[in-house]
Amino acid sequence: MPQTASKALVLFSGGQDSTVCLAWALQRFHSVETIGFDYGQRHRVELDCRPRILAQMRRNFGWSGGLGEDHLIDMQVLGEISDTSLTQDMVIEMADNGLPNSFVPGRNLLFLTLAAAVAYRRGIGSLIGGMCETDYSGYPDCRNDTIQMLANAVSLGMDRKFEFLTPLMWLDKAATWALGQELGGAAFTEIVREHSHSCYMGDRDQRFDWGYGCGECPACQLRAKGYAAWQTL
Ligand code: ZN
Repeated sequence: MPQTASKALVLFSGGQDSTVCLAWALQRFHSVETIGFDYGQRHRVELDCRPRILAQMRRNFGWSGGLGEDHLIDMQVLGEISDTSLTQDMVIEMADNGLPNSFVPGRNLLFLTLAAAVAYRRGIGSLIGGMCETDYSGYPDCRNDTIQMLANAVSLGMDRKFEFLTPLMWLDKAATWALGQELGGAAFTEIVREHSHSCYMGDRDQRFDWGYGCGECPACQLRAKGYAAWQTL
């Protein structure tokens, strides 16, 4: 299939960041497909959020007309080879190397490479991800340098030009809430609050003003802190 500049593939986990990226992509590209990964994550409930968010987007926004196929990739092997608090039943804490033990080595490298393989088949040249190095957890595979070097490697290795776009790279969480509101107004922010999932513990029983979660894990704290900061902007 020939590659066209008007088609994009969004790495869509069902979290806040990738939901905002999806709205961003839909307003810029004629045709947008989504891809998600089942890698044995403890917060696997995020995968159940994906179709609900996609349905809500289709229902509420005319600009979602370009929303195309959704791809869900089985990556259980990543959970099997990773000894991390995101894929095993262990307490989330800082490891000796200064990184939280929720860091899954190679995760974004594999996701982007596999996404590019799907994009190759689908004639898509633009990959979009919610990676961010502003107020991230220190994950080295969220760094802009990592992402752009990988885009070069993948383009060379597949002999096709791919661009990896990361609209949230230089935003903090408050700015991500603000961007969502700017893109889709209060209706979109409500989709993010109600249907997107960030909590590492997979908690969807407790509801806060920023959405569902345990309220205590690093992902919940980041999301809550950003929401509170956005409210005061
Ligand atoms: Zn949580």
